[in-house]
Amino acid sequence: MRKAHWEKNLFELIRKTSTDLPADVEAAIRRALLKEKKNSRAAWVLTTILENAAIARKNDTPICQDTGVLQFHFGVPVGFDTNALVAMTRSAVSRATRYGYVRQNTLDSVSGASYETNIAHGSPVFHFQQKARKTVDVRLVMKGGGSENVGRQFSLPDAEIGASRDLEGVRKCILQAVWEAQGNGCAPGILGVCIGGDRTTGYTHSKEQFLRKIGEKSPVKLLAKLEERIIKDCRKLDIGPMGLGGRATLLDAKIDALSRHPACYFVTVSFMCWAFRRRGVLLGPEGGIKRWLY
Ligand code: SF4
Repeated sequence: MRKAHWEKNLFELIRKTSTDLPADVEAAIRRALLKEKKNSRAAWVLTTILENAAIARKNDTPICQDTGVLQFHFGVPVGFDTNALVAMTRSAVSRATRYGYVRQNTLDSVSGASYETNIAHGSPVFHFQQKARKTVDVRLVMKGGGSENVGRQFSLPDAEIGASRDLEGVRKCILQAVWEAQGNGCAPGILGVCIGGDRTTGYTHSKEQFLRKIGEKSPVKLLAKLEERIIKDCRKLDIGPMGLGGRATLLDAKIDALSRHPACYFVTVSFMCWAFRRRGVLLGPEGGIKRWLY
């Protein structure tokens, strides 16, 4: 294992994620802009967002001042040394913080003290899966705090919003979460939704939906239909970019389901803001870049 290679390319993944909005996200914002009225506040916000993304890319600076919580998703070959991978990733995060690609964004929850390098208990976040291949698949999502704050978990049935344990109940939960957020969490964004699971896996799986590309529909027909319906319904809420009115409340909705306990029916909704920083890279056995995934 060539440590320097790994650290260099993990650093490059962080740099690119922080400064270069993915093409599918930017294209979705452009499509949303075409649907807004000319000279409206919504059109102005979306235009500013696109200008901001272009400046960040050109100047090699973070797209947003909140560089979020770094969430790494690794797919590793059987027998791969994950402890070494964690250590090298931490080193890359620490360097990216020193270079300003990541803000000092991690606090001690008891004392309130700031960690200079973003390396702490629970930071960054790591997820691992074993894959039957020789390459290492690394996907990084930088999850902003504002969008994290508006995430919501429902336990059905929910009499307050009239949601029962079916897909219509799920739809009501999702719309309720979007309505309550009112553009906070920096709309227009993307929803990651998990139906079922338990309280922990519900949130984890809802966030895993952010690894899917914009426009990529659920392979489950009923869920794909629900995704489309949610996007259409949300356009009518007139929440719009940053909650200032307009059609572009969402860029996309990703819904998936886990099995559940018969007594439980959770619907977990995670929000991602317009600054949807998600990149992935395939690294070879020595840490060299094979190809970018997005
Ligand atoms: S929610 Fe997203 S766009 Fe808004 S401040 Fe946080 S990271 Fe930036």
